[in-house]
Amino acid sequence: VLQAHALGAAGVGLYRTEFLFLQRRELPSEEEQFLVYRDLVLGMAGRPVTIRTLDLGADKADGSGLTLPDEPNPALGLRGVRLTLAHEPLFRCQLRAMLRASAYGPVRILVPMISDSRELRAVRSLLQQCAAGLREQGYAIGERVELGAMIEVPAAALAIGTLVPHADFFSIGTNDLVQYLLAADRGNDALAAVCSPLHPAVLRVLHDVIAHCRRVGRSVAVCGELAGDVRYTRLLLALGLTDFSMHPGNLLEVRRAVRGSEHAAMRGECRRLLRCDGDGLADWLQRHSEG
Ligand code: PEP
Ligand code: MG
Repeated sequence: VLQAHALGAAGVGLYRTEFLFLQRRELPSEEEQFLVYRDLVLGMAGRPVTIRTLDLGADKADGSGLTLPDEPNPALGLRGVRLTLAHEPLFRCQLRAMLRASAYGPVRILVPMISDSRELRAVRSLLQQCAAGLREQGYAIGERVELGAMIEVPAAALAIGTLVPHADFFSIGTNDLVQYLLAADRGNDALAAVCSPLHPAVLRVLHDVIAHCRRVGRSVAVCGELAGDVRYTRLLLALGLTDFSMHPGNLLEVRRAVRGSEHAAMRGECRRLLRCDGDGLADWLQRHSEG
Protein backbone atom coordinates (compact mmCIF):
# COMPACT_ATOMS: atom_id res chain seq x y z
CA VAL A 1 0.00 0.00 0.00
CA LEU A 2 2.81 2.38 0.89
CA GLN A 3 4.40 1.66 -2.48
CA ALA A 4 1.13 2.14 -4.38
CA HIS A 5 0.48 5.41 -2.61
CA ALA A 6 4.02 6.70 -3.09
CA LEU A 7 3.93 5.88 -6.82
CA GLY A 8 0.73 7.87 -7.25
CA ALA A 9 -1.67 4.98 -7.90
CA ALA A 10 -5.23 6.25 -8.37
CA GLY A 11 -6.35 3.75 -5.75
CA VAL A 12 -6.16 0.07 -4.90
CA GLY A 13 -7.74 -1.90 -7.76
CA LEU A 14 -7.72 -5.31 -6.12
CA TYR A 15 -7.06 -6.30 -2.54
CA ARG A 16 -7.19 -10.09 -2.25
CA THR A 17 -8.57 -10.98 1.18
CA GLU A 18 -7.65 -14.67 0.84
CA PHE A 19 -4.30 -13.81 2.38
CA LEU A 20 -6.05 -13.33 5.73
CA PHE A 21 -7.55 -16.79 5.59
CA LEU A 22 -4.76 -18.95 4.21
CA GLN A 23 -2.12 -20.66 6.32
CA ARG A 24 -4.06 -20.59 9.54
CA ARG A 25 -6.47 -22.79 11.42
CA GLU A 26 -9.24 -20.47 12.57
CA LEU A 27 -11.13 -17.83 10.62
CA PRO A 28 -10.16 -14.18 11.12
CA SER A 29 -12.69 -12.32 13.26
CA GLU A 30 -14.65 -9.27 12.15
CA GLU A 31 -12.43 -7.10 14.34
CA GLU A 32 -9.21 -8.50 12.89
CA GLN A 33 -10.45 -8.02 9.34
CA PHE A 34 -11.76 -4.54 10.11
CA LEU A 35 -8.35 -3.43 11.42
CA VAL A 36 -6.60 -4.69 8.28
CA TYR A 37 -9.11 -3.07 5.91
CA ARG A 38 -9.16 0.17 7.89
CA ASP A 39 -5.36 0.47 7.75
CA LEU A 40 -5.49 -0.17 4.02
CA VAL A 41 -8.08 2.58 3.57
CA LEU A 42 -6.15 5.00 5.78
CA GLY A 43 -2.95 4.18 3.88
CA MET A 44 -4.51 5.28 0.60
CA ALA A 45 -5.53 8.63 2.11
CA GLY A 46 -8.82 9.20 0.33
CA ARG A 47 -8.16 7.27 -2.86
CA PRO A 48 -10.62 4.43 -3.46
CA VAL A 49 -9.72 0.99 -2.19
CA THR A 50 -11.25 -2.04 -3.88
CA ILE A 51 -11.47 -4.96 -1.48
CA ARG A 52 -12.41 -8.32 -2.92
CA THR A 53 -14.59 -10.69 -0.93
CA LEU A 54 -13.08 -14.06 -0.18
CA ASP A 55 -12.05 -16.04 -3.24
CA LEU A 56 -11.06 -19.35 -1.69
CA GLY A 57 -11.32 -22.57 -3.61
CA ALA A 58 -9.52 -24.02 -6.61
CA ASP A 59 -5.86 -22.93 -6.51
CA LYS A 60 -6.37 -20.93 -3.29
CA ALA A 61 -7.49 -23.70 -1.01
CA ASP A 62 -4.79 -24.71 1.42
CA GLY A 63 -4.98 -24.60 5.18
CA SER A 64 -7.95 -22.26 5.73
CA GLY A 65 -10.21 -22.73 8.72
CA LEU A 66 -13.01 -23.50 6.29
CA THR A 67 -13.69 -27.06 5.44
CA LEU A 68 -13.57 -26.89 1.70
CA PRO A 69 -15.42 -29.58 -0.17
CA ASP A 70 -13.38 -32.36 -1.66
CA GLU A 71 -14.26 -31.74 -5.27
CA PRO A 72 -13.22 -33.63 -8.38
CA ASN A 73 -12.98 -30.37 -10.35
CA PRO A 74 -12.29 -27.49 -7.95
CA ALA A 75 -11.71 -24.80 -10.61
CA LEU A 76 -15.31 -25.41 -11.64
CA GLY A 77 -16.46 -25.96 -8.09
CA LEU A 78 -17.62 -24.14 -5.00
CA ARG A 79 -15.24 -21.18 -5.13
CA GLY A 80 -15.44 -17.41 -4.89
CA VAL A 81 -18.93 -16.04 -4.37
CA ARG A 82 -20.39 -19.54 -4.58
CA LEU A 83 -18.48 -20.50 -1.44
CA THR A 84 -19.21 -17.29 0.49
CA LEU A 85 -22.92 -17.42 -0.29
CA ALA A 86 -22.90 -20.98 1.04
CA HIS A 87 -21.27 -19.78 4.30
CA GLU A 88 -23.45 -16.85 5.19
CA PRO A 89 -22.14 -16.12 8.72
CA LEU A 90 -18.61 -15.93 7.36
CA PHE A 91 -19.73 -13.71 4.50
CA ARG A 92 -21.64 -11.36 6.82
CA CYS A 93 -18.60 -11.10 9.07
CA GLN A 94 -16.44 -10.06 6.12
CA LEU A 95 -18.99 -7.60 4.72
CA ARG A 96 -19.41 -5.98 8.14
CA ALA A 97 -15.64 -5.55 8.46
CA MET A 98 -15.49 -3.91 5.02
CA LEU A 99 -18.45 -1.64 5.77
CA ARG A 100 -16.86 -0.53 9.03
CA ALA A 101 -13.64 0.28 7.19
CA SER A 102 -15.64 2.46 4.79
CA ALA A 103 -16.03 5.01 7.58
CA TYR A 104 -12.35 5.87 7.03
CA GLY A 105 -12.37 6.47 3.27
CA PRO A 106 -13.85 5.26 -0.01
CA VAL A 107 -14.28 1.48 -0.15
CA ARG A 108 -15.47 -0.52 -3.12
CA ILE A 109 -16.46 -4.15 -2.57
CA LEU A 110 -15.62 -6.52 -5.40
CA VAL A 111 -17.18 -9.97 -5.72
CA PRO A 112 -15.26 -12.78 -7.44
CA MET A 113 -16.59 -15.56 -9.69
CA ILE A 114 -19.94 -13.96 -10.45
CA SER A 115 -21.72 -15.91 -13.17
CA ASP A 116 -25.30 -14.71 -12.79
CA SER A 117 -27.19 -11.60 -11.64
CA ARG A 118 -28.89 -13.61 -8.90
CA GLU A 119 -25.59 -13.92 -7.07
CA LEU A 120 -25.06 -10.18 -7.23
CA ARG A 121 -28.57 -9.52 -5.95
CA ALA A 122 -27.99 -11.92 -3.07
CA VAL A 123 -24.75 -10.14 -2.14
CA ARG A 124 -26.41 -6.71 -2.40
CA SER A 125 -29.18 -7.86 -0.09
CA LEU A 126 -26.69 -9.20 2.50
CA LEU A 127 -24.71 -5.98 2.24
CA GLN A 128 -27.82 -3.89 2.90
CA GLN A 129 -28.75 -6.04 5.88
CA CYS A 130 -25.23 -5.76 7.29
CA ALA A 131 -25.25 -1.98 6.83
CA ALA A 132 -28.60 -1.67 8.58
CA GLY A 133 -27.39 -3.87 11.44
CA LEU A 134 -24.22 -1.85 11.88
CA ARG A 135 -26.09 1.44 11.92
CA GLU A 136 -28.44 0.07 14.53
CA GLN A 137 -25.44 -0.85 16.65
CA GLY A 138 -24.12 2.68 16.30
CA TYR A 139 -21.22 2.04 13.92
CA ALA A 140 -20.24 4.68 11.39
CA ILE A 141 -20.10 3.55 7.77
CA GLY A 142 -19.28 5.36 4.54
CA GLU A 143 -22.04 7.16 2.70
CA ARG A 144 -21.65 5.21 -0.49
CA VAL A 145 -20.02 1.80 -0.68
CA GLU A 146 -19.95 0.56 -4.25
CA LEU A 147 -20.54 -3.07 -5.09
CA GLY A 148 -18.80 -4.50 -8.13
CA ALA A 149 -18.54 -7.78 -9.98
CA MET A 150 -15.47 -9.50 -11.28
CA ILE A 151 -15.87 -10.59 -14.85
CA GLU A 152 -13.89 -13.80 -14.99
CA VAL A 153 -16.49 -16.42 -15.84
CA PRO A 154 -17.27 -16.37 -19.59
CA ALA A 155 -21.02 -16.49 -18.90
CA ALA A 156 -20.78 -13.23 -16.96
CA ALA A 157 -18.86 -11.60 -19.80
CA LEU A 158 -21.41 -12.69 -22.39
CA ALA A 159 -24.34 -11.64 -20.22
CA ILE A 160 -22.77 -8.37 -19.06
CA GLY A 161 -25.94 -6.48 -19.95
CA THR A 162 -27.92 -8.42 -17.34
CA LEU A 163 -25.35 -7.63 -14.63
CA VAL A 164 -25.18 -3.90 -15.28
CA PRO A 165 -28.37 -3.05 -13.31
CA HIS A 166 -26.94 -4.79 -10.24
CA ALA A 167 -23.30 -3.68 -10.21
CA ASP A 168 -21.77 -0.25 -9.62
CA PHE A 169 -18.52 -1.22 -11.34
CA PHE A 170 -16.75 -4.11 -13.03
CA SER A 171 -13.27 -5.55 -12.96
CA ILE A 172 -12.16 -8.11 -15.52
CA GLY A 173 -10.10 -10.95 -14.04
CA THR A 174 -8.19 -12.08 -17.07
CA ASN A 175 -6.28 -14.79 -15.19
CA ASP A 176 -9.43 -16.81 -14.76
CA LEU A 177 -11.29 -15.48 -17.80
CA VAL A 178 -8.53 -16.73 -20.11
CA GLN A 179 -8.35 -20.12 -18.38
CA TYR A 180 -12.11 -20.62 -18.60
CA LEU A 181 -12.46 -19.34 -22.16
CA LEU A 182 -9.70 -21.59 -23.42
CA ALA A 183 -10.38 -24.56 -21.12
CA ALA A 184 -6.72 -24.44 -20.10
CA ASP A 185 -5.57 -24.60 -16.47
CA ARG A 186 -3.80 -21.33 -15.61
CA GLY A 187 -1.38 -23.16 -13.32
CA ASN A 188 -0.35 -25.91 -15.70
CA ASP A 189 3.07 -25.12 -17.21
CA ALA A 190 2.53 -27.60 -20.01
CA LEU A 191 -0.36 -25.42 -21.21
CA ALA A 192 1.42 -22.07 -21.04
CA ALA A 193 1.22 -21.64 -24.81
CA VAL A 194 -2.47 -22.54 -24.88
CA CYS A 195 -3.46 -20.46 -21.86
CA SER A 196 -2.52 -17.20 -23.59
CA PRO A 197 -4.46 -13.96 -23.90
CA LEU A 198 -3.38 -13.77 -27.54
CA HIS A 199 -6.43 -15.59 -28.77
CA PRO A 200 -9.14 -13.96 -30.88
CA ALA A 201 -11.86 -15.12 -28.47
CA VAL A 202 -10.13 -13.46 -25.53
CA LEU A 203 -9.79 -10.17 -27.40
CA ARG A 204 -13.37 -10.29 -28.59
CA VAL A 205 -14.69 -10.84 -25.07
CA LEU A 206 -12.46 -8.13 -23.57
CA HIS A 207 -13.50 -5.69 -26.27
CA ASP A 208 -17.20 -6.39 -25.91
CA VAL A 209 -17.23 -6.10 -22.11
CA ILE A 210 -15.22 -2.86 -22.16
CA ALA A 211 -17.37 -1.40 -24.95
CA HIS A 212 -20.59 -2.32 -23.17
CA CYS A 213 -19.44 -0.77 -19.90
CA ARG A 214 -18.35 2.42 -21.65
CA ARG A 215 -21.69 2.65 -23.42
CA VAL A 216 -23.70 2.38 -20.21
CA GLY A 217 -21.30 4.46 -18.14
CA ARG A 218 -20.01 1.81 -15.75
CA SER A 219 -16.37 1.87 -14.77
CA VAL A 220 -14.44 -1.17 -15.91
CA ALA A 221 -10.88 -2.19 -15.11
CA VAL A 222 -8.70 -5.15 -15.95
CA CYS A 223 -7.17 -6.62 -12.79
CA GLY A 224 -5.57 -9.81 -14.12
CA GLU A 225 -1.80 -10.10 -14.66
CA LEU A 226 -2.33 -8.85 -18.19
CA ALA A 227 -2.93 -5.28 -16.96
CA GLY A 228 0.49 -5.13 -15.32
CA ASP A 229 2.37 -6.70 -18.22
CA VAL A 230 3.83 -3.89 -20.31
CA ARG A 231 3.90 -6.08 -23.43
CA TYR A 232 0.11 -5.87 -23.51
CA THR A 233 -0.43 -2.23 -22.58
CA ARG A 234 -0.96 -1.03 -26.14
CA LEU A 235 -3.22 -3.92 -26.96
CA LEU A 236 -5.44 -3.05 -23.99
CA LEU A 237 -5.44 0.61 -24.99
CA ALA A 238 -6.52 -0.43 -28.47
CA LEU A 239 -9.43 -2.34 -26.93
CA GLY A 240 -10.54 0.83 -25.14
CA LEU A 241 -9.29 0.12 -21.64
CA THR A 242 -8.59 3.17 -19.47
CA ASP A 243 -8.43 1.57 -16.02
CA PHE A 244 -5.47 -0.71 -15.28
CA SER A 245 -5.08 -2.52 -11.96
CA MET A 246 -1.72 -4.11 -11.19
CA HIS A 247 0.95 -4.94 -8.67
CA PRO A 248 2.64 -1.66 -7.64
CA GLY A 249 5.94 -3.03 -8.92
CA ASN A 250 4.68 -2.73 -12.51
CA LEU A 251 3.16 0.72 -12.17
CA LEU A 252 5.99 2.88 -13.46
CA GLU A 253 6.67 0.75 -16.50
CA VAL A 254 3.02 0.50 -17.53
CA ARG A 255 2.43 4.19 -16.88
CA ARG A 256 5.39 5.02 -19.11
CA ALA A 257 3.96 2.82 -21.88
CA VAL A 258 0.53 4.46 -21.55
CA ARG A 259 2.04 7.95 -21.71
CA GLY A 260 4.27 6.99 -24.61
CA SER A 261 1.36 5.69 -26.71
CA GLU A 262 -0.71 7.56 -29.24
CA HIS A 263 -4.12 6.75 -27.81
CA ALA A 264 -6.16 7.77 -30.83
CA ALA A 265 -3.90 5.75 -33.11
CA MET A 266 -4.19 2.74 -30.81
CA ARG A 267 -7.98 2.99 -30.76
CA GLY A 268 -7.82 3.08 -34.54
CA GLU A 269 -6.17 -0.35 -34.46
CA CYS A 270 -9.11 -1.94 -32.69
CA ARG A 271 -11.00 -3.21 -35.73
CA ARG A 272 -7.88 -4.64 -37.28
CA LEU A 273 -7.02 -6.41 -34.03
CA LEU A 274 -10.43 -8.00 -33.77
CA ARG A 275 -9.98 -9.56 -37.20
CA CYS A 276 -6.61 -11.17 -36.37
CA ASP A 277 -6.01 -14.82 -35.63
CA GLY A 278 -3.47 -15.89 -33.00
CA ASP A 279 -0.46 -15.44 -35.30
CA GLY A 280 -1.78 -12.09 -36.49
CA LEU A 281 -2.07 -10.95 -32.88
CA ALA A 282 1.49 -12.01 -32.13
CA ASP A 283 2.66 -10.03 -35.21
CA TRP A 284 0.65 -7.00 -34.15
CA LEU A 285 2.18 -7.13 -30.69
CA GLN A 286 5.65 -7.37 -32.18
CA ARG A 287 5.04 -4.36 -34.42
CA HIS A 288 3.60 -2.29 -31.60
CA SER A 289 6.11 -3.20 -28.93
CA GLU A 290 7.99 -0.34 -27.35
CA GLY A 291 11.19 1.04 -28.76
C1 PEP B 1 -8.09 -13.01 -12.11
O1 PEP B 1 -8.68 -14.09 -12.13
O2 PEP B 1 -7.68 -12.42 -13.13
C2 PEP B 1 -7.83 -12.33 -10.82
C3 PEP B 1 -7.41 -11.08 -10.77
O3 PEP B 1 -8.04 -13.01 -9.69
P1 PEP B 1 -7.14 -14.19 -9.14
O4 PEP B 1 -5.86 -14.19 -9.93
O5 PEP B 1 -6.96 -13.90 -7.69
O6 PEP B 1 -7.99 -15.38 -9.40
MG1 MG C 1 -9.77 -14.88 -10.48
